[in-house]
Amino acid sequence: MSDICVLGNFVADNTFYAEKLPAKGQTIFGSGFQVGPGGKGSNQAIAAARLKSKVSFLGKVGDDEYGKMAIELYKKNNLNHKTVFVSKEHPTGVAGIMVNKTDGTNAIIVYPGASMEITIDEVNEFSDLIRNSKVFLTQLEIKTEVTLHALKLAKKNNVITILNPAPAIKIEDEFFKYIDYFTPNETEAKFYTNISINSKSEAKDASIKLIQMGIKKVIITLGEKGLFYNDGKKEIHLDATKVKAVDTTGAGDAFNGGLAYGLSKNQSIEECLELANKVGGMSTIKLGAGDSMPFLKDLS
Ligand code: ADP
Repeated sequence: MSDICVLGNFVADNTFYAEKLPAKGQTIFGSGFQVGPGGKGSNQAIAAARLKSKVSFLGKVGDDEYGKMAIELYKKNNLNHKTVFVSKEHPTGVAGIMVNKTDGTNAIIVYPGASMEITIDEVNEFSDLIRNSKVFLTQLEIKTEVTLHALKLAKKNNVITILNPAPAIKIEDEFFKYIDYFTPNETEAKFYTNISINSKSEAKDASIKLIQMGIKKVIITLGEKGLFYNDGKKEIHLDATKVKAVDTTGAGDAFNGGLAYGLSKNQSIEECLELANKVGGMSTIKLGAGDSMPFLKDLS
């Protein structure tokens, strides 16, 4: 059994590095390229596993080289991968990522491939695993009916649920009552609330709107500005860790993995946020996504 169950996608990140992002219609020379593990669910699972949590990753890959890369990665990071389905019909998902090496910002296209094909029946094969986890963590990179089904299953069994609403897509109102922690970044928070977040007071306004929608605890991640937390009673604002960011791809994933770890260890919300903030920050000092997640020893 696992302390943390993560449902989501794996994609092979094909990352291009350059001094700037190309403008529409423009071709520029890059300064580097790498293929590495990505996908929000998979990255979040790795982040939690590197902190020495017992983690299972529930997802689907293709029967191909990138699928093998995923399984190898899970073995290397001591993650339960018996829960990864291998599709014969669909290829492993891929992402095309462009990273601006000057400031670490990025632009991404994801083709989810096999990961989008995971079904409710397949999730049900691991219902005991979800029910017996302390924390269930998921995102919006697979079919929303599958996500909703799994969130319901977790919540009905008193498992702490985290929905990282990424990428931001429309979800039924029914979702909200099954979410304990909702962790949008600024863009995603704007999508769900229509409030542009440029200040702490706007982050607060957005969090209040989300709480009114039925979410219990809201954490808006603010990139290099840190985070804002609100549960309707307590508000917490933390500045980001001071680091020299070289690639912010996967920072939100690192953050969510760190949060899941803290919650699974029954830490206070203050401790969970401190840790998640640190894990998010530390992930930006290395290139890549899944492989840039810090280990427990890197945090001290
Ligand atoms: P996403 O990757 O989903 O867009 P954010 O950019 O908001 O999410 O980053 C998530 C978290 O990672 C932040 O709340 C912060 O803790 C950390 N983080 C992100 N960028 C930086 C940065 N440049 N310096 C320090 N910490 C960062």
